[in-house]
Amino acid sequence: MFPVQDTLDRDDVPILIIGSGPCGLLLAFMLARLGVRSLIIERYPTRLDAPKAHALSPRSLELCRQFGLDVNKIRNIGATREDAHWVNFVTSLSGKLIGRLPYERMDAEVLNDTPTMIHNIPQPEFEDLIARELPNHDLVEVRKNHSFVRLENRSDCVLASIEDRSTQRVYTVRCTYLVGCDGAKSAVRRFLRIESEGEDSYETMMTIHINANMSPIIKERVGMLHWVIDPEVSGFIIGYDLSGNQVLICNFDSTKHPVESWNEALCRKVVNAAIGTNVPYDVLSYRPWILSRKVAKAYRVNRVFFWRCCSSFPPTGGLGLNSGLGDVHNLAYKLAAVLHGLGGDSLLDSYEFDRRHVAMVNSQQSVKNGKQIFGLLKAFGTTDSNMEVARRNLYRNIEDCHAMKDINQGIENQREHFDNLDLHIGYIYGDHRIPENASIYRPVCIRGGRLPHAWIRLYSQEETALPPIDSSYVAELSPEEVEMKRYSTLDLCTFDAFTLIADRGTALHWKRTLKEMCECLPAGMSNKLKIRLVIRGSDFDLQPGKNGEDWVQLTKLYDGNAILVRPDQHILECFTFPAGHSGLLKVLREHLAWDTVVPDWHKVDSVL
Ligand SMILES: Cc1cc2nc3c(=O)[nH]c(=O)nc-3n(C[C@H](O)[C@H](O)[C@H](O)COP(=O)(O)OP(=O)(O)OC[C@H]3O[C@@H](n4cnc5c(N)ncnc54)[C@H](O)[C@@H]3O)c2cc1C
Repeated sequence: MFPVQDTLDRDDVPILIIGSGPCGLLLAFMLARLGVRSLIIERYPTRLDAPKAHALSPRSLELCRQFGLDVNKIRNIGATREDAHWVNFVTSLSGKLIGRLPYERMDAEVLNDTPTMIHNIPQPEFEDLIARELPNHDLVEVRKNHSFVRLENRSDCVLASIEDRSTQRVYTVRCTYLVGCDGAKSAVRRFLRIESEGEDSYETMMTIHINANMSPIIKERVGMLHWVIDPEVSGFIIGYDLSGNQVLICNFDSTKHPVESWNEALCRKVVNAAIGTNVPYDVLSYRPWILSRKVAKAYRVNRVFFWRCCSSFPPTGGLGLNSGLGDVHNLAYKLAAVLHGLGGDSLLDSYEFDRRHVAMVNSQQSVKNGKQIFGLLKAFGTTDSNMEVARRNLYRNIEDCHAMKDINQGIENQREHFDNLDLHIGYIYGDHRIPENASIYRPVCIRGGRLPHAWIRLYSQEETALPPIDSSYVAELSPEEVEMKRYSTLDLCTFDAFTLIADRGTALHWKRTLKEMCECLPAGMSNKLKIRLVIRGSDFDLQPGKNGEDWVQLTKLYDGNAILVRPDQHILECFTFPAGHSGLLKVLREHLAWDTVVPDWHKVDSVL
């Protein structure tokens, strides 16, 4: 492979991002907020209209909020909570409702675990929302219709060849780091020959994008997902917008209908069976794919980074995009710390250590969900090769109370598929166990865990620049409850600082400890390291009630303990009273890999 030409007219940028999907856009936005300039290269002049992902997990919304994307505004776009509440199992959209399960956790109680419950918004609208914020940052440039060609990963920089597709001119960009956000078939990953691990193929799938007004058919049987159990279909319709955009994802028998045989007529046959009645619509696109699981074996090669989206995830579980957004959040503050001289290079290694396990768990759960749900479809007796026999089996089964008992149990067994709360907010960096149940979230206050959420009141508005959360979309809440659910403990942690949370009783001790630690920092570091001390009882307090009491018990701040939180809201360390400044310095030194960035550490060691 010949080297990339290092031309005089090359572009120079700290971060080069390949791909302007939601992850690339969010990374650029976060980096800009952290004061880092980036250039996004996007292969296509315009985006495909297919809506793709529909669910922003609680964690995705939490991290959007932390960086100043207004979750109240996000919640006003996309499906309402009422419309998205259910997963329906039907013979067709106009046919019989066989059963239903809640779609993820949208009950009011989930607000004890997260300030921002899941919200359903078509992916293009989410992308537009971020893209609208980018012009406010002169630290971001987006070049559309430009394509990544190849790269040279040098010891001090990356040189990338980029093609301007409108003129075919190939030019060079020199960057300190390159991040491949170019999707499941990542050209960057392939160029570097990074292998993936996972399983190859489970089912052959077809995604058909249509526009149809389904509201008069679905009527009050609204839901986010409609699993259609018909021998012609075996799949689900995503209700992004019941009066317009719909996507049908179905499993098909490729021996009976080889991929090459698919055309608009066959798509219509399947969609008509899914709707079950005459409705006008256009087939906007159709795309075959294989339900499989792949996770890149490495997330970093020298100065080049990838993330889970450079792997493929089955959509069963809605964990794909959300895992990618979590990766972005983890990587952004680390890149900024290194570029600002606050972190050493090996801080960037912790990105793979933290995030790859999350991708493994989430992808395995997505496959498990996919296998179970397609197994259920078989239990309905719809897989007989003769369509008429299969349909007769189906209708006989749903009228038979013994068969219905099994079917109901089969639907009940899918509950975990549609409730992934623990996978969304419960992952603990450094804990590489596989959760026993994706739905059961138990907050913890330990190193690597996300700071547990509880509702707080702020004594000084200076503690956060964020707008209050508007929880009034949860109709069950009284005005008093809405008023109490405006700020979260997560709001105490800003994206550009470490946060030390302690109790009023020992505030003086922690203030002194922090001051002593800052006095020990090597020259030049104290003005880069930002640590905010936030005191319960002076700066904030828990809202009255069990939620706040549980948080107090979990954190044990009343014993004099203090929690040091990373800029990504994950706990770096829990200190017990009366830990001194050397303990604080040690964990920051390790995390930020100061030994490689601070040449005169021996001087610091001698004063400790
Ligand atoms: C029907 C459907 C439903 C889904 N539902 C969900 C869901 O509910 N929840 C969920 O979490 N996920 C879901 N997903 C998955 C989700 O859509 C993806 O995980 C998400 O798009 C990944 O975002 P990304 O930014 O990493 O990559 P992408 O959105 O794939 O963007 C990659 C970008 O890179 C560009 N690019 C590619 N090659 C080059 C190159 N050589 N040079 C420059 N640019 C390049 C592409 O043009 C593209 O714009 C769903 C997917 C589908 C298809």
